[in-house]
Formats: sequence, C-alpha cells, structure tokens
Amino acid sequence: MAPNSVNAAALRQMLSFVSETMVREEAYLTSLDAAIGDGDHGITMRVGFNAIKQKLGGLPEGVGVDTVLREAGFSFMGATGGAIGVLLGKMLMAAGSAMKGQQEIGGAEFRTLMSSMEAALIAAGKAKPGDKTLLDAVHAANEALAGDVQPDLLGALTKASEGARRGAESTAQMPARIGRSSRLGDRALGNPDPGAISFAIVLRAMTAWLQKQAPSAD
Ligand SMILES: [Mg+2]
Repeated sequence: MAPNSVNAAALRQMLSFVSETMVREEAYLTSLDAAIGDGDHGITMRVGFNAIKQKLGGLPEGVGVDTVLREAGFSFMGATGGAIGVLLGKMLMAAGSAMKGQQEIGGAEFRTLMSSMEAALIAAGKAKPGDKTLLDAVHAANEALAGDVQPDLLGALTKASEGARRGAESTAQMPARIGRSSRLGDRALGNPDPGAISFAIVLRAMTAWLQKQAPSAD
C-alpha cells in the first residue's frame, strides 16, 4: 500500500526521482523532436529537470508543498528557453499557487493541482485540445480524473498517468496546427508530440515513485 498523501519532504523526493527519469529519457525525447521539430526537446528537459533537482536540494527544510512546486517552476523556466520552458514553468507555478496552505497532497489535492496546470497552460498557450501539443496529454489526464469524488493518491496518479499516455499517443494521429511542427502539416502524422510524451512520462514517474514507498505511519 502506497502512502495516501505526500508532504513537502516526500514531494521533494518524488520530484527528484522525476527529474532523474527525465534526464535518462533525453535521447528518446530528442529522437521524437527530431522527427517533427528541431530536436532540442530532450536537451530542454534534461536542463530544466536538472535545474529543478538542484533547486530542490538547496531549499530550506520546512518549506511547504506550494513553495516546492513554485520554486520548481521558477527554476525550470529560468534554466530553459523556448515555449515549453515557459509553459511547464507556468504550470508548476500555478500548481504551487493552487496548493497554497496545504500541508500534504492527497488524491483530491492532486486533482486540484492537475486542473490548475491545465488552466495555466490554456491561459499561457494558444493551443486547444486536438492541436497536437502538450495540452492533449494534460487535458486527457484531467478527463481521466473527472468524476472520481474521493480519489486516493495512487489511484488518481495512476488514472492521470494512463490518461496522459493515451492523450500523448493520440497526438501521433493529429496534424500539427501550432508551433514549429505546424510547418510540416500532415507530414507530422505518425509522430507524437514530444511535449505531450514528456508530460506522460512525468506522471508515470510520479506514479512509479509513489508505488515504491512504504505506507505512511499515520
Ligand atoms: Mg524543439
């Protein structure tokens, strides 16, 4: 049984594990981007998540989950360039704002966090679902969470992770309508959006981390 919530200390460990996972995925993510973009996505993720890991290691003990998420967003945005750096940075900052005052993130808080990230992405970007972007994964994750009144954290993470994966894989069948790959039009068909795949991997890594934890004492 995995713990049913994460406090700030656990969230820091979880995000460090996610960061290490994303760094390991660099070559795969770069190969996805090389097919339809400029091939820098794996590098961007490696640089951004290394910055997150370094930042989290230096935060004082006792900061809340909101600060952990906000600082992760600041460091990701500060370390990376390009649209994806701004978007993921803003999403993490929005997640931090949504968690203000929370001591722990359980299933219900995770659902709030996920919807705040989608709202931030929609506000910051120009994409709609179906445009072959990061939003397709984020939106599908939120749809997978809808209707679960009292989700436990592992259940919510699992659902969101599977939703994001389906959403990310579905982008392979979409023509690109926005961003650099839109110049390719139908030639982008058959290749998924790298940002959407990245988001799905982040959620999968969060789920895997939680699964490996011993139940909390309380
Ligand atoms: Mg690129």
